[in-house]
This record gives sequence, structure tokens and C-alpha cells, in this order.
Amino acid sequence: MNQIFFTPGPTQLYPTVPGHLRTAIGKNIFSISHRGQTFKSLYAETEENLRLVLNLPDQHQILFLASATEAMERIIQGCVLKKSFHLINGAFSQRFFEIAQQLKKQPEAHQVPWGAGFESDDLVVPEVAELVCVTQNETSTGAALQADLIAALHERYPRSLLAVDLVSSVPCFDLDYSLVDAAFFSVQKGFGLPAGLGVLVVGPRCLEKANQLSNQGEATGSYHRLEVLVEKAIHQQTSETPNILGIYLLGRVCRDLLKTGIDSIRNITRQKADLLYNAIADHPDLRQFVRDPKFQSPTIAVAETGQPPARIIAKLKKSGFIIGTGYGNYRESQIRIANFPAHSLEQMGDLVSELNRI
Ligand SMILES: *Cc1c(COP(=O)(O)O)cnc(C)c1O
Repeated sequence: MNQIFFTPGPTQLYPTVPGHLRTAIGKNIFSISHRGQTFKSLYAETEENLRLVLNLPDQHQILFLASATEAMERIIQGCVLKKSFHLINGAFSQRFFEIAQQLKKQPEAHQVPWGAGFESDDLVVPEVAELVCVTQNETSTGAALQADLIAALHERYPRSLLAVDLVSSVPCFDLDYSLVDAAFFSVQKGFGLPAGLGVLVVGPRCLEKANQLSNQGEATGSYHRLEVLVEKAIHQQTSETPNILGIYLLGRVCRDLLKTGIDSIRNITRQKADLLYNAIADHPDLRQFVRDPKFQSPTIAVAETGQPPARIIAKLKKSGFIIGTGYGNYRESQIRIANFPAHSLEQMGDLVSELNRI
């Protein structure tokens, strides 16, 4: 049976991916040298399309890594000497914090319960924090932070760098990149691509800090040191043999997204989110985990279930709909449903009708 994956990631492939794969094989994309002109052109095209999708300021640089988790490590390692500060409300924001601990950076955190969001008035960032780390869309809980929180952090703490995890909200969340020094994601969620490629966007202040630490003789990494990554990236190159498949597909899918129009994609995302959230609200056995509507993520819905989640998941699977389990300890009490550009309005309508029946 035809299956549609509404899992948080990996998830449903963007519908044009199979065609792009066939074209790439036909053009021997996976055999070409990553030092040759064909690769450089392919890289340049991906970069150009991604810049347009994200609406990136010119000074912000795109870097390709292996994963979003790697991006967390690169940012901490490259930009923090002693202290980072973290907003923690779930597993991924916790992971960012732990990476800083493991790199011996004495991180501090403002922590709220899973399922909660943050109000900017409650936040106090210590003066000595060199970097503030924010997970815009907590995939483990379905809590999303609003754009004005990021703007408030930028405005109130101009001396700290600001890094934003966008993994499960990009390209639907409209981030003003001029307010942030680093932002990152991997491609197996909102872009509907195979896993194995991370994207890190760095601004000029982030690079200045990395240079400064290097010049002081601090260890800021090896082959994926930020300065090396940038040096290579401006020549459409990478230090290692890169994920050519991922870079190629990202460029193609960005072009497809641009054809549809990013505003249109965001509108449809909103409509699909309304369908999904209304279905959860109306269902006798489901309840939103994120109680405050202003923090309910348009792209990841998490519901507590009155019946065992495995039963709901199995019933939906019979009709071809694959949804996610709760994260970690919530595996036995929650379900997670993704709403990404790869999911059409019609498919979301079908999922919601099926959900209503169980
Ligand atoms: C999935 C996810 C990550 C980790 O992504 P990887 O590509 O597996 O490293 C980090 N942050 C958030 C918010 C995520 O959803």
C-alpha cells in the first residue's frame, strides 16, 4: 500500500525527489569529482537557491556539515571560550547544552518543563554568556518559540552571539537572519530529503569570534573548524569528500519550493496546521501536549493519548499513514505528527479524516 510518512524526521520525501534522483544518476552526479567544475557549479546553484529560500543577508555564509547535531558542536567549539547560555524545554535544546558541557564550556541554562515555551520578560542572560542557544522548534515536545523572542534576545543582549536551531521549522518559520549569528538545520525534516546533510548558516560576528579564539591559540576544531569551512565554502568546496547527493537534492528541492513560492508554502502550512490542531482538539482521546496555543508548533504537533499510542499508530498505519511516537519517555503516552512542505493539503485532510475515525 502507498504509505505517507507524517513522522518528524526522516519523513515523507518531497514529491519531486524521485525524479531528481533519476536525473542525477543519468547525469553521473554521484561519480563526478568534488574538486571539478561540475561540482562547483552544482554547489553554487544549491547555495543560490537556498539563499533565496531562506532570504539570507549577503554577509551570512552557508556551510555544509554532516548533521544538525554536528552544527551544535561546531558553533560551541568555534565561538565559545568559557560560557554559553541555553533555553531548555526538551530533548534537543538539552542536547545543545550537553554538547557545551562535554566541551567543558561551563554552560548555564534557563529551563522550563517539557511542553512549555519561553516569555522574553522571564529571561535573564548573564553578561558573561558569549553565546545564547535557542531551539526554535522543540521537536521532542511540539513547542515553538515566537519570532519576537528571538528579536528580544538580539536587542537586549547585543554582546552575546545568538544561535538558533531551526531543524524542524525551516523553511516554514520566517526567521530574520540579520538578527542571528548562527542558525542550523538538517535536511531530513522540513526539506523532505534523505538524511545525512546538515546546513549551518553563520554571520560575520560568529566568524569574527571564531577567528579571535583561533588567534589566541584556542583549539576551535580541526578539519571542520569554522574558518576552514568558510574558506572552502567561498570557493564552492568542502574539506572532505562531501555528501554530493544531499547537496544536489537540496538545490533541486529549493528550486521547486521557490517555484511554488515560500509565502504560499507558509500559507498552506498554516492551513494544514489548523486542520491538524482542530482534529486533535475535537478528538475525545487526544489532548495537545503544548497547552498554550501561542507556543503550539505549526510543523510538529504532539498529543497526549487516552488510548495506548501504539494502538493509534497501528490503526493509522493500516490506512497508509505513518505517524511518530512520543519522544523518549513519552513514547508510551504521546504521538507526534509532522506538517512539512512535503505533505499536501489533501494528504493532511486525509490523515485528519482517518484520525477522526479512530
Ligand atoms: C532532529 C533534530 C536535531 C538533530 O538533527 P540531526 O540531523 O539528527 O543531527 C536537532 N534539533 C532539532 C530541533 C531536531 O528536530
